[in-house]
Amino acid sequence: MVPQRQPSFQRMEASLLACPKCKVAVPVRKRLLLILPEGNKYEYLCPQCSSTCGTTIEKDDGERRFIS
Ligand SMILES: [Zn+2]
Repeated sequence: MVPQRQPSFQRMEASLLACPKCKVAVPVRKRLLLILPEGNKYEYLCPQCSSTCGTTIEKDDGERRFIS
């Protein structure tokens, strides 16, 4: 997956991400994984097969950075 930055106004809970198993874009579920010094780390889960479709770290200021 290509790292991408999204504008801070796009803070939607239901993001579409490509699932590595289903091979389609799915409306992933967001789950809090870790609370890190640089922000909260979330993972995105496929609602159909529960695969991890990606992770993100969200800072308090709303900046979002994909790391996988
Ligand atoms: Zn899936």
